[in-house]
Amino acid sequence: MAFYRITWNEKYDFATLHNWGCTFRCPFCSYKLRSGENGRPGFAEPKPERFLSVDEMKEALRSVSPGKVYFMGGEPTVAKELKEMISFAKHELGAETRLGHTNGSRLPLPGLDGANVGLKAWSEELHLEITGKPKSLIYDNFRAAFDSGMKMAANLVFIPGLVGLDEMEGVVSFLAGLDRNIPFHIDGYIPIPGLPWKRPTDEEMKAAEKLAESYLAHVKSSHLTTEEALNLAARDDRFKVKTIAG
Ligand code: SF4
Repeated sequence: MAFYRITWNEKYDFATLHNWGCTFRCPFCSYKLRSGENGRPGFAEPKPERFLSVDEMKEALRSVSPGKVYFMGGEPTVAKELKEMISFAKHELGAETRLGHTNGSRLPLPGLDGANVGLKAWSEELHLEITGKPKSLIYDNFRAAFDSGMKMAANLVFIPGLVGLDEMEGVVSFLAGLDRNIPFHIDGYIPIPGLPWKRPTDEEMKAAEKLAESYLAHVKSSHLTTEEALNLAARDDRFKVKTIAG
């Protein structure tokens, strides 16, 4: 598992390294929306034809000298070159370093300034059922990263009937116990073909927002349709990027 593409957003001055692969097996993995594959749980993006070498990545980053370098997945912490690239971004480019999206299974990391953790569930059994990993691994890591001074944020896919308000309350209560200013984003579930759960209604989303706001000061949400999710650049210019490697 390794990085296969680097993108650059000139307006917002960030570059993103994209990794292929993940160690979790979430049945509702949003990568399936694009790949259309739903024959097995977990990450299901087709394997890239080739991966980038460390030299190629450094050259591409040097060419734009970004103020921020983000690492995405799948799950970016499974990329074997991650530590070297964090160190390069931080110490040679002087950039802010952040896991733009992570499942939290490998935190904190040296040289990393922040991370946005996609939490999956609060109850022990549901966490194991969804991800294949124990809950303590993720929540202990989140706490350790927060305590280390990293800028932390979190999100949760809200799936009525699976990851509902009771699960969300456990998550936001945990976050508020660390700091009620931790940013929290509610992702309204975008239905994956072949899975039984439905997109939340507007009323269900409002109830989720109200609950989260009763614990946390900075709550945002998205309630996208499949079409909107597949064309994020049309809604948000942070997704308007140019490929600089891969
Ligand atoms: S952690 Fe994220 S990338 Fe990995 S299987 Fe779950 S939803 Fe997909």
